Amino acid sequence: MHLSKSRYKKGLHCKKQLWLSTHKYDLGNYEKNFSALIGDKVGVGATEIYQNGKMVDTPFNKHEEAVQKTLSLMNNLKVEAIFEAAFSYNNINIRVDILERLENNCWGIREVKSSKSIKENFYHDISIQYFVLKKLNYQISSAQIMYVNGDYVLNNNVIEWNNFFLKSEYKDLIEDNIKDVEDNIVFLKNIQTSDQEPNVFPGKSFCSGCEFWDYCTKDKPKDWIANIPRLHKSKKRVLDDKQIESISKIPNDFPFTEKQQIVVDSTKTNQIFKTKKFYYDLKKFKPPIYFFDFETLSCSIPTIDNTKPFEKLPFQWSLHHLNSNKNVNHWEYLATEIKDYRKECIEKLINIVIKDNSKIVAYNQSFEKSVLKQLGDIFPELIHPINNIIDRIIDLEVFIKDNYYHPEFQGSYSLKKVLPALLPNEKKYNEGNVSDGEQAQENFYNLLFQEKDLKKKELIILNLLEYCKKDTESLLLIYQYFEKL
Ligand code: SF4
Repeated sequence: MHLSKSRYKKGLHCKKQLWLSTHKYDLGNYEKNFSALIGDKVGVGATEIYQNGKMVDTPFNKHEEAVQKTLSLMNNLKVEAIFEAAFSYNNINIRVDILERLENNCWGIREVKSSKSIKENFYHDISIQYFVLKKLNYQISSAQIMYVNGDYVLNNNVIEWNNFFLKSEYKDLIEDNIKDVEDNIVFLKNIQTSDQEPNVFPGKSFCSGCEFWDYCTKDKPKDWIANIPRLHKSKKRVLDDKQIESISKIPNDFPFTEKQQIVVDSTKTNQIFKTKKFYYDLKKFKPPIYFFDFETLSCSIPTIDNTKPFEKLPFQWSLHHLNSNKNVNHWEYLATEIKDYRKECIEKLINIVIKDNSKIVAYNQSFEKSVLKQLGDIFPELIHPINNIIDRIIDLEVFIKDNYYHPEFQGSYSLKKVLPALLPNEKKYNEGNVSDGEQAQENFYNLLFQEKDLKKKELIILNLLEYCKKDTESLLLIYQYFEKL
């Protein structure tokens, strides 16, 4: 039973997560998401900065072997940096992303992050490494987080890794707080060695991204209080203290906001909520009308010349049109080649919607509008038609939030909840090969930069087209459903 860099960080966030990753590791869901895959590439990119760096390529489950290999590389003065350097101290096993050899027998710890801003928990990542190396009597003259320079611009399709990163020095801060690190370790080791699984109340925001979410929530009721939108943590604590897990058990006089009260009442009574102005507001969506959705790629490593890390690159859209005679048309766009596809993407859209002045329905309009605005900045020659599109956008999500609630929404207005609640016989998102925006990004990235097999590429294209089409088809179906009420 050992502590590691990630267990240290997890334990400081949630003691149950530390205990589970020590005692019930297999219960976790460890699927790598797209950001993690790109994060690995950033990590590899950082190593390219060092001409004479060497990798400790020993697997993570052979830590002692990795420690020995690290030691031999540290003794080789020609090695300028060691990647994934391994150390052990008092049952704490760590791997250092980059251990840089500095002057006067000193070393620098470099923790690489695929983020363009410094996050609070980065400190924990680097402080535990510093603590272990100091305890092993190494001289550490620097401990830096290397993170993505958000102003970096890709040129000639080659990442210059030297300019890609910014660095932030943490050594003095860690030195000043080294006692806290020591105390944290004692606290976390006590949790780890306990026979008792800690009791922590899960919550959607607190547990975001945790691999044990399914395990921790497996016994939660369908009307779990976590489904109440934007429930303040002080109110959640009151309910937790009273061991109230079901919305149905909440006393009627418990204070909620107006929107929360709608969710609570609808859940308790199993009744649909509909405002008096529902039909009036629905008139805004009267055909002829378009239903539109963009997919964008946003990753730390820029993929198109003259773009920056995390810039949103629209690579796909789907557009349905419902005319006054209730006839439906569909158009779509998907970039399939490595080039700057953005102009083609927006021009094809403009060429269709410019022919009339119908309103354009989006779901969460701020996203579509921000992408369009950005395209207008990049292509000023298209600013008028782009502004015309922006002015015509109306939001079906806003309409639903303002006017309608179904108990099966379970506190969420996402299309993935709304569609099956209203139209249970429609194909669900998770029944497709691409089921969310993150998977769409990953598939698109693979299509352009990873996959070589033409048959597999064709399949990716079909899956992406089906996914995006489902989004706008869902908007159309939801509108048609409301129209019949
Ligand atoms: S799901 Fe939440 S409560 Fe459970 S281990 Fe993860 S962070 Fe902790």
